Amino acid sequence: MSIVEFSIRQKGQGMHDLAGKRVLVTGSTAGIGAAVAEGFVRWGAQVCLHGRVASPLTDRIRAAGGTVHFVAGDLSVPDAAAAVVAAAVRAMGGLDVLVNNAGGIPVRAGCTDHDDARFDGIIGLNLRPVFAATAAAHPHLKAAGGGAIINTGSVSGRTGGPGGSAIYAAAKAAVHSFTRTAARELAPDGIRVNCVVPGVIDTAFHVSTPPEMKEAVSRTVPLGRLGRAEDCVGAFLFLASPEMSGYVTGQLIDVNGGIHMA
Ligand code: NAP
Repeated sequence: MSIVEFSIRQKGQGMHDLAGKRVLVTGSTAGIGAAVAEGFVRWGAQVCLHGRVASPLTDRIRAAGGTVHFVAGDLSVPDAAAAVVAAAVRAMGGLDVLVNNAGGIPVRAGCTDHDDARFDGIIGLNLRPVFAATAAAHPHLKAAGGGAIINTGSVSGRTGGPGGSAIYAAAKAAVHSFTRTAARELAPDGIRVNCVVPGVIDTAFHVSTPPEMKEAVSRTVPLGRLGRAEDCVGAFLFLASPEMSGYVTGQLIDVNGGIHMA
């Protein structure tokens, strides 16, 4: 573009293309998902929050004039993800963006301390819902003329996790891999699939981490602190906006203060 052709972008361009988009964010009653949901609302999107129990965030967004819905569902239960997507689609009248964010480590165990039920539980929360929600969302995203799926991965899926998190880290590595395969398969339908890969973000996820351990970790982060949920928001909004990232698919974007450089 020559200097003559250049003009300052006006409202209606850039991430303003998120206005009116119908966005489901799983696991958005707290932490990263809540911050991401608020970010979408700030750019004018209609958002469906999700968690096992309702959150005051729904009322807060509504009171601020945002358009918001809430769908409950325990994603560790088979078939719940499809039901959550169906309810969100009913509430919003369709779907443009799916954020597969819910996850966590309900229980930690060493890699040789194998237990089938524990394995199924952690995989069932962190991996199966990503497959199931994507499958349920696919016809609706296609009907909307294309859209975006954004998964939440983890630095532990790249580097291996700390002791006790082997199943979780393996599930997140699988989410990274799924992102790439799904990006190839869904590209012909105009659906982009990407993944945000958080580092150590100071949310309820780390509620049982001793403060001195958090302090020690923060000293290893090149940017000098642990992440905040808000630090992750920009990457999700960028990946949802066709104007900003319309030629980006199958990618992992790390938000980690430099703790791991892929
Ligand atoms: P968080 O603050 O604990 O929030 C987790 C969210 O997931 C909540 O909204 C929670 O809602 C929902 N959730 C948990 N279990 C669920 C279940 N069985 N069914 C349905 N919803 C469930 O954790 P976060 O740090 O924001 O984590 C969000 C995502 O980022 C997760 O995928 C996590 O693995 C990933 N991540 C986090 C970090 C980090 O350092 N924090 C690093 C890498 C990746 P309810 O409690 O209402 O069900």
